[in-house]
Amino acid sequence: LAASSSSSTRQVKLEKESELRVEVGDSPLRFRLLHGTAEIFGTELPPEIWLTFPPRLKFAVFTWYGAAIELNGATETDYTADETPMVSYVNVHAVLDGRRSRAKASSADAPGSSQGPRVIVVGPTDSGKSTLSKMLLSWAAKQGWKPTFVDLDIGQGSITIPGCIAATPIETPIDSVEGLPLEMALVYYYGHTTPRWQAFLNVNAELYKVLVKELAQTLERQFAGNVEAQAAGMVINTMGWIEGVGYEEKLCSMLKDVLKNKPNVDVVKLQKSGGVVSRSAKVRQKSRNYRIREYFYGLTNDLSPHSHIASFNDLFVYRIGGGPQAPRSALPIGAEPSADPTRLVLVTINRDLLHSVLAVSFAKEPDQIISSKLSVGCSNVAGFICITDIDIQRKKITYLAPSAGDLPSKFLIVGTLTWLET
Ligand code: ATP
Repeated sequence: LAASSSSSTRQVKLEKESELRVEVGDSPLRFRLLHGTAEIFGTELPPEIWLTFPPRLKFAVFTWYGAAIELNGATETDYTADETPMVSYVNVHAVLDGRRSRAKASSADAPGSSQGPRVIVVGPTDSGKSTLSKMLLSWAAKQGWKPTFVDLDIGQGSITIPGCIAATPIETPIDSVEGLPLEMALVYYYGHTTPRWQAFLNVNAELYKVLVKELAQTLERQFAGNVEAQAAGMVINTMGWIEGVGYEEKLCSMLKDVLKNKPNVDVVKLQKSGGVVSRSAKVRQKSRNYRIREYFYGLTNDLSPHSHIASFNDLFVYRIGGGPQAPRSALPIGAEPSADPTRLVLVTINRDLLHSVLAVSFAKEPDQIISSKLSVGCSNVAGFICITDIDIQRKKITYLAPSAGDLPSKFLIVGTLTWLET
């Protein structure tokens, strides 16, 4: 392996089954495929066409049969590696592909038997879970399947802003620059970037479970009449919250043990790629901020968010499950914590809400916030706002929204997610 950093235009030759690992610097990197074939996390590169990668993106260009590529611009680091776990990953894909074909074939004989593979990727943070999920999805889409991607990672999710769990069908290989499509995503706002109990932050861990269940039920309903989606199956990414370092080694055997009586579940241990970049808490926080910024301004500043002013009376901000739940240790012996995780609490508007990122509900009445099950039909142009000023004297809120139009609802959901425009 050879690390280097350079800003000129240069060519890199890649031998078969090797990859160029790149960390883009502070300015965009341009890049094209000159010869051969290569892919970025399962998505093939178009020949000859210059692609522009945004600052700080970390990715690998992998080739199965050999390729030459040309880079233009500075990188933080880039090096080639010929040891990768890609063969084992593509073998998993091949097994899944076989199961999809079988599901599709059997659905013709026996309706209701078309369930394709449902894959859940688990492991510690920075083990490459999101990357593996994307590869499996892109390889499947390349073969004409439309698998569903479910992202349960509220810290570093790939579908929309942090604090959400979301699902979306993947109909074409994932765009290496643009990322995942948001147009058809089903998004639930949790409002926090960790499910950990944090009394001082009002984090509502039970709500996470409620939302995951909701998302699962909604997907089951959507799949019910859709043989194609059923056969393609799902890839579910998780958030790497496996307590304690010791667990990292034990996770696989623990899962095997827990699942040993489930005949339809296979546990497969896969190696982490040496290219996966570890991220410190600070880097994670930064990347969350970029994700929120991207939501409002677009990846390349191509969106124009709009600043609005509203009266305190015009907006209703709710916290879900509101109020800290007493931890078990603080309760009398034998008592169970009883707070309803979906209880709605109307929040008094004050300066504490400054910089909060709020989800805009589709509800027309407060009781629908719950009955619509907190679902925010989010797209690139609506879904979240960020509070940028609160004038207590004049009772006015200033907020940033993706567009100039009215909000689809005056009912907003607050968590602990904040964003400060820099
Ligand atoms: P978390 O649980 O924290 O979300 P994760 O396990 O999902 O992390 P990834 O997001 O897949 O990990 O990978 C971490 C970072 O490493 C990402 O920025 C990803 O693009 C990068 N990465 C993954 N594989 C490679 C590789 N082979 N070469 C270069 N960069 C890579």
